[in-house]
Amino acid sequence: MAKFIDEVNIRVKAGDGGRGCISFRREKFVPRGGPDGGDGGKGGDIVLVTDPQKNTLLDLHLQKYYRARNGAHGRGKRQHGRDAEDVEIRVPVGTVIRDAETGKIIKDMIVPWERFVVAKGGKGGRGNAHFAKPTRQVPRFAENGGKGEEKTLILELKLLADCGIVGVPNAGKSTLLSKISAAKPRIAPFPFTTLVPNLGMVKYKDTDFVVADIPGIIEGAHRGAGLGIKFLRHIERTGVLLFLLDISQHPYEDAGSTYKLLLDELSHHSEKLTSKPRIVALNKIDIPDVRKKILHWIRFFERLNIKLFPISAVTGEGLEPLLDEIAFLIKKLKSD
Ligand code: GDP
Ligand code: MG
Repeated sequence: MAKFIDEVNIRVKAGDGGRGCISFRREKFVPRGGPDGGDGGKGGDIVLVTDPQKNTLLDLHLQKYYRARNGAHGRGKRQHGRDAEDVEIRVPVGTVIRDAETGKIIKDMIVPWERFVVAKGGKGGRGNAHFAKPTRQVPRFAENGGKGEEKTLILELKLLADCGIVGVPNAGKSTLLSKISAAKPRIAPFPFTTLVPNLGMVKYKDTDFVVADIPGIIEGAHRGAGLGIKFLRHIERTGVLLFLLDISQHPYEDAGSTYKLLLDELSHHSEKLTSKPRIVALNKIDIPDVRKKILHWIRFFERLNIKLFPISAVTGEGLEPLLDEIAFLIKKLKSD
């Protein structure tokens, strides 16, 4: 199956090691104290960590440079300089790390909460206390700290939609997608067509997820007409389905029938689709004729044990509870 790709270049610089210290003991009545210069601290590493709550590389599109601090220099009285803290970068499970210069894969991160040091911090230099020997009692030198590694990385993630929006043409699928998404991933061309489902990456509160707007559902998709069937194959692998209803369009004024029509379309293709967690939203409530009927449809779906989310993809009304529900269901799916 063709893939959607979220790709980002980042630059990382690990911390340098601290300098070793050159120092000699100074004590009253001890004219020639020995060397007591402490070692430098280690520079911080840059560590990539897979976080199962993450579904995109969005945070990395927003911050592309990461630097860890340097280790502290050593001091007299054999005081060791402090090691610098590592910098952690959270990435989704499935992230492939490449070296941007060679194009080579450095690491394929597939295990949740896996930690991988992509750039090592420099070692601390040794202080002069290390270098005293019977033949060299006054070492007037110490080591410098090692350099922290610096790299440009390409991170790549193959995306699967976490949530697919289904609805009749003009229900507002594309409008909703562009309203809630923070960025569009790069889309590798489908082998069978130049048309691709519209994909967006959504950043919402503490989570992020991928939403696909699936065109062509209603137009005889299950019979293989047009592109529908290929897209249905794609949504088979999405987590949650959002049914977007629009009662302002003829002949879809009856939300109950439209809902059933969409379900039928899906089940014709595969029963698997109808067992997916499902959310139902009534769109375009900014239109007065639609607004008047909100309560009626809420009650109708209540009788089917379905919570209806009234929204306007244009004004943004009602989107927060809807997104809360989507995020909740996606998290639940991933933790099962
Ligand atoms: P799609 O075919 O499902 O992708 O539908 P589109 O997103 O292309 O929307 C179809 C039409 O409905 C466009 O003219 C949109 O501006 C309009 N539309 C979408 N959402 C809303 C809404 O919440 N309120 C109103 N008034 N119009 C909307
Ligand atoms: Mg559309």
